[in-house]
Amino acid sequence: MSLKQQQYINGKWVDANSGHTRDIINPFNQEVIATVPEGDETDAKAAIAAARAAFDHGEWPSTPATERGTIVRKIAELIERDKEELARLESLDTGKTVEESRGDMDDIAGVFRYYAELADKMGGELIDSPVPNSISKVVHEPVGVCGQITPWNYPLLQASWKLAPALVTGNTLVMKPSEITPLTTIKVFELMEEAGVPTGVANLVLGAGHTVGAELSSNVDVDLISFTGGLVTGKKIMEAASVNVKKLALELGGKNPNIIFADADFETAVDQALNGVFFHAGQICSAGTRLIVEESIHDEFVNALVERVKKFKLGSGFDEDTQMGPLISAEHLAKVEKYVETGKKEGATLAVGGSRPEDPELQNGFFYLPTIFTDCKTDMTIVQEEAFGPVITVEKFRSEEEAVKLANDSIYGLAGGVWTNDIVKAERCVAKMRMGTVWINDFNLYFPHAPWGGFKQSGIGRELGRLGIEEYTETKHIFHNLKPESINWF
Ligand code: NAD
Repeated sequence: MSLKQQQYINGKWVDANSGHTRDIINPFNQEVIATVPEGDETDAKAAIAAARAAFDHGEWPSTPATERGTIVRKIAELIERDKEELARLESLDTGKTVEESRGDMDDIAGVFRYYAELADKMGGELIDSPVPNSISKVVHEPVGVCGQITPWNYPLLQASWKLAPALVTGNTLVMKPSEITPLTTIKVFELMEEAGVPTGVANLVLGAGHTVGAELSSNVDVDLISFTGGLVTGKKIMEAASVNVKKLALELGGKNPNIIFADADFETAVDQALNGVFFHAGQICSAGTRLIVEESIHDEFVNALVERVKKFKLGSGFDEDTQMGPLISAEHLAKVEKYVETGKKEGATLAVGGSRPEDPELQNGFFYLPTIFTDCKTDMTIVQEEAFGPVITVEKFRSEEEAVKLANDSIYGLAGGVWTNDIVKAERCVAKMRMGTVWINDFNLYFPHAPWGGFKQSGIGRELGRLGIEEYTETKHIFHNLKPESINWF
């Protein structure tokens, strides 16, 4: 596989200033799949300087939006051309099934296409002027230099949500992917170069959060930080970004409730409750890990889940019959194990899973069995905190009011679901649910033109949709007096 395995700064493929490198590990077998530069603050500063110069002195911000859209559309076409290679690289790096990665690549190309189409359709506005012979207009301009920091769970998908809207609106940028999973992002920077993104406009720095990420967050030449990742990191970035009052877009964690009423279509709700969590081994910000099930069907529902979970096929993402791959790293596996131990100590009942698999073929990978806890109470750590793994907690409810109360009992507010055949009840519930996305009789569905983001501590701002492009613009009011006259006050 041809991959540059370098950083991309000011139109050049470069190693780290320090010469340091980092091995990228396949989570299925711990083999080294690539060795990439380990950049630090100095690499980040060089990239920020390039992006600053391209914004302040380059042509990109004033390039007609239609032309920027054409380049971004070309990126979508190149992603489609290289879809299979990108999907296999993503699976190698993250452990998820290739089938899932292929779906990601379709979505990613779709995001670039969507924003390419929007490029020249955002427009401005003429507003009524209080002064005769004058023009009052509102225009949208690029914010400037954008720092973009992404997580390891959906590396290229999360990158696409940031790259495409930033580019079409005429910003310049420095991206830092997760140090664990940078490979598809490197590849897409190759494709962006091929598509004709001008020198200095898009820069890629590889390295750790506390070095490269911290520099992006605190450097005064960065005007906006768009971050997707955990809550603790998000708070640090928010603090660092106050140095020059950067614009902030934060996509943080989620602990997403999925309410199952007794009148829901039972089989579909069981199936989708599983789909809502166990894709990519539960390492999804919007995973419906908090199941809230009506008492009258609780036992039957849990039994049905457990029977299905016992049959899951764990294995290599490259085997066609694999349903669930490994977790991302040894550290993350240890974190999930710790949460499960805490759940047991706090009195939850382990219905299935709760350990690493015994299969000898899986011992080199970071595998964990799909796990379901019952008898969960809302104040338990496993109900409140993001284990970010294949772990479901089940709570019981007796009334609609109680279900909504349990659903809202979280510092997070990213997403949630309601399963019922009573449409009036469904609408009543979702009106009270404090989350950025709520699904009725579905779960985890998202698409480029629907806004995505969180209420409460799940974040600030929105990605995708028109709001996702607006994050990358500053609004300017221009007042033009066509017949100026003296006021003669002073
Ligand atoms: P993380 O916060 O550990 O890391 C995310 C990124 O931040 C990485 O690139 C990391 O290097 C960088 N980083 C770490 N410390 C930093 C610092 N001090 N300054 C600047 N950057 C720093 O998160 P993760 O473990 O990679 O991802 C999992 C988290 O991401 C989960 O909480 C998940 O819910 C969240 N997530 C949210 C969404 C969403 O749309 N809301 C999507 C995907 C993932």
